[in-house]
Amino acid sequence: MVEYGNPDVVIVGAGAVGTSCAFHLAAAGMRVMVLEQDRVASGSSTCATGAMYSISADFNDADYLRWGVQGHYSTKEIVPVLEDLSGITTGFQCRPALRLAIDDEEETQVRADLTWQSEVMNTRWLTPDEVRSIEPRISGEVRGAALEPEAIQVPADVLSQAFMRSAERFGATFVPGVATGLEWSGDRVTGVRHSQGTISCDNVVLAMGASAAVASNWFDYQVPVRPLRGERLMLRWPSPPLQVLLSTPRRGHLISRLDGYLSIGSTGGRDFDDRDNWIVDQGAAIAEPHPAPTPEARAELLARAIEVLPTIEFATVGQQITGIRPLSRDTRPIIGPVPGREGVFLATGHTHRGIHLAAVTGELIRDLVVHGRWLRTSCDASLLDPARFLS
Ligand SMILES: Cc1cc2nc3c(=O)[nH]c(=O)nc-3n(C[C@H](O)[C@H](O)[C@H](O)COP(=O)(O)OP(=O)(O)OC[C@H]3O[C@@H](n4cnc5c(N)ncnc54)[C@H](O)[C@@H]3O)c2cc1C
Repeated sequence: MVEYGNPDVVIVGAGAVGTSCAFHLAAAGMRVMVLEQDRVASGSSTCATGAMYSISADFNDADYLRWGVQGHYSTKEIVPVLEDLSGITTGFQCRPALRLAIDDEEETQVRADLTWQSEVMNTRWLTPDEVRSIEPRISGEVRGAALEPEAIQVPADVLSQAFMRSAERFGATFVPGVATGLEWSGDRVTGVRHSQGTISCDNVVLAMGASAAVASNWFDYQVPVRPLRGERLMLRWPSPPLQVLLSTPRRGHLISRLDGYLSIGSTGGRDFDDRDNWIVDQGAAIAEPHPAPTPEARAELLARAIEVLPTIEFATVGQQITGIRPLSRDTRPIIGPVPGREGVFLATGHTHRGIHLAAVTGELIRDLVVHGRWLRTSCDASLLDPARFLS
C-alpha cells in the first residue's frame, strides 16, 4: 500500500496550468500533491510557443482582454520569483509586439479590434513606414500594425518546470499516476482514485488539459472541452533575431526565441483559422498527445511566414512540433468549482492562451480554494466560471 500523506489539495495534471496552481496553493501554505500520468509539461504545454500578446484576437471582447492584461502582469511578476526559487533560467523575454496587417482583410480586422482594445490596454496603429522602421525585414506589402509596447514570450515547458520545482520548495509533491475517478461523501469530494490506489483529500483541481472532458464521467457536469490540434516550426534563420514579437491574423506568429530558434505557426491557432478543421477525436488525442507532423502544415506555415518576412526563404527547419490544445466551447478557460459539487475545481479549456493565462489561473484557483472567492478586482471571475455553460 503506497502512503500518500494527507494533502489538502490534489491537482490532476502537471502542465503549465496544473503546476501554476500547485505553486500558488503551496505558497499559500496548503499541502499540495500533483498527480500526473506522464511527466511535467508532457501535454500541450511542451509544444506551446509561449507567446503572450494581449492584442491577439483570442481575447475577443473587453472583459476577456482584461484577463489577458492581468495574465501579462501576473507572469511578469512571478517569473523572477520562480527563477530564484527553482534555480531555473526560463528564457523569459519582454519585447514589443506588432499585430501586422499584410492584406485588406487583415487590415480591416486589426483596425476594428483596435477601436475597443485601446480602451483596455496600451496599443495604437502604426503606419507601414513606422512598422518598417522598427523591423525593416518585414514585407513591403505591410499595411500597418497594432503596437503592444510590451509583450512576453517564455518557453512553456521550462516555465512549467519552474512552477513545479518552486512548488516543491513549498512542500508540494509530484506523484506519477492516471486519475480514474473521484471519491465522494454526498456531494463533497473526499479523494482521487488513480491507477495505483486512492488519495484522500478535501480539494481537487482538475487541470487535465485536452483530456478534461474525461472527467465528465466523474460528476454530473459535462466539461465542454475538445482536443484541438496545432503544429508549429522552429527555424534556423541566418539573420539576426527579431527584436519584436510578430503576428498576423492569417499568418500566425513569428518569434525569435532566446535559444536562437525562430518559431512560426501555429495551425489551428491563427485568427482566421476554421477550428473545425483541427478538432480531433478525444480517444485519439489521449492515445497520441503529439501526433505525427504533416508535410502539408510544414509547407503552409513556411509559405505564409515568407509573406511576412521574405528572407525566411533561406531558413532551415530545425523542429516541427505538434500538440493538442484544450479547446473550450467558447474558447475561454473554464476555471472554478464544478457546479453542484463541493471541493472540486476545474482549471482547463485555455485553448490558445494556456501559457499566457497560466500564472493568473494559479492565482484564481488559490483564491477560490483558500478564500472561496477571487480577490483581484482587475478582471471578472464569473466570465470563466464553469457554471456559465449551464444556462
Ligand atoms: C502548437 C501550439 C502552440 C501554442 N502556442 C501558445 C502560445 O504561444 N501561448 C499560449 O498561451 N498558449 C499556446 N498554446 C496553447 C497551450 O499550449 C495550452 O493552452 C496550454 O498548454 C494548456 O495547458 P494545460 O496545463 O491546461 O494542459 P497540458 O499542458 O496539456 O497539461 C495537462 C496535463 O494533464 C495530464 N493528464 C491528463 N489527464 C490525466 C489523468 N487522468 N491523470 C493524470 N494526468 C492527466 C496530461 O498528461 C498533461 O500533462 C499552444 C498550443 C499549441 C499546440
